[in-house]
Formats: sequence, structure tokens, C-alpha cells
Amino acid sequence: MRKKIVAGNWKMNKNLNEGIILANELIEKLISSSIDVEVILGVPFTHLEKITSISKKYSVSAQNCSAQESGAFTGEISTKMIQSTGAKYVILGHSERRIFHKENNSDLAKKVDLCLMDDLIVIYCCGETLSDRESGNHFMVVKSQIEDVLFHLSGEQMSKLVIAYEPVWAIGTGVTASSDQAQEMHAFIRSIFTQKYGLELSRGLSILYGGSCKPSNAQDIFSKEDVDGGLIGGASLNANDFYQIINAF
Ligand code: PEP
Repeated sequence: MRKKIVAGNWKMNKNLNEGIILANELIEKLISSSIDVEVILGVPFTHLEKITSISKKYSVSAQNCSAQESGAFTGEISTKMIQSTGAKYVILGHSERRIFHKENNSDLAKKVDLCLMDDLIVIYCCGETLSDRESGNHFMVVKSQIEDVLFHLSGEQMSKLVIAYEPVWAIGTGVTASSDQAQEMHAFIRSIFTQKYGLELSRGLSILYGGSCKPSNAQDIFSKEDVDGGLIGGASLNANDFYQIINAF
């Protein structure tokens, strides 16, 4: 059985105090719930240790890491630093990092390797732009984002990752991929992993959908066979909304 996961991506929102309040609101709801879903909070670097220490009801993720191991890289945060906070996950390849910080596939491949070296689980984001989709290149774009960054990994390493399909045109726009569009791409992504690593690995891989997922559409999207949960931006900033999404399976 694949793990069901709902991960929040707080992005650059919530100061530490506001983050603690949000985490506590969520904990109150999670305490009385027995659902079998791994909940992950993707928080700013400054919040990692504190949010990790508050509760075991969720896991904590960084939203990025350095492509360097250590040294004279002012302002960078290494995988070892992230690991030392108690966080378990790192989100890599988010389109906002690819677009605004010009992260390319070769930077991302280095980051993936460093995360694996330091026992951090990567949530690897891939997804096409609107023009990719309109020109019919969406499958090819997603395939190369996966091949270029992940296909140097062994099967054992690959089995530790989580994939998030996030069509860029749906992120923060209010426009959601239809559940059929999500299913179509998730099945395609799973087939890529089947071809490279075999059925056992691909069947065990959790593939999350991200892009304007909210309480009103989560159930429909999560009902699809190859959708194993969500990476949630805006709606993860409200405990009620996020909790409804966690319960949407
Ligand atoms: C995201 O940034 O990963 C995301 C899915 O954002 P939103 O849910 O706000 O579209």
C-alpha cells in the first residue's frame, strides 16, 4: 500500500509566532483524528526546529536546501543543518524556485544527492507551464524533469523519494487541474518509473498533486487511482482548510 500524504507548503508566510499558532491549531484537530495519512508541514528554515519540537502528529519539511555541502556560501542552508533541526523532508524543484531562483535540473540533481546523503526525504516537484501544455509538450517536459534529476539514483535511493506533480498554471492561480488531468499525468509519471525501476518500485511511489487544491476539490482529486495525496500551498495556511484536505481521502 502506498503512503497517503498531505503536505503543506507555507512558502514565505507566517512569522515564527504565527507559525506556532497555526501548528497548534492543526495539532488540536489531529489529536482527535485517526486517519492514516502522513501530514507534513513545509515551513521556512527559521521555523524548522521549533515546529518540529512541538508535536509528533506531523513531520516537518524544509522548502529548499543548498547544492553545496558546506563552506563559504553566505546565506545558504545545508542538508546537514536541516537534518540537525529534526526535520525529515525537503521540498525540491518547486516551480517558484525554478522560475524565481533559476534552479536548473543539474542544481536539483546535486541537491537530491545531498538530501539522500543526510537521510532527508525529498519531495520532488515537477510540472509543466501553461504554454508547455497548450503546445502538447507537457508529458515530455515532466519526463525530462524526472529523468534529468532523478534517474542517476539507484532503485533503493529512488524508493525513498516522494513525487509532487504541480502544473505551474495551477499553482496559486485558483485554477486547478481537473481530476482527470491529474490522474492522466500521475499515471504517466508512474509509468516512467515503472520503465526505469520496475513495477514494485513504481507501485510503492507516492505521487502528490499540487496546484490550487482546496477543501472543495480535494476529495475529487484524491479519489483518483494514481493520486496519493497533495502538496498544498495557500490552503495549508488555514488549519480548518488544511485539516479538511487531510480528511478528503
Ligand atoms: C504549491 O505552491 O506547492 C501549491 C500547490 O500552491 P497552491 O496550493 O497555493 O496552488
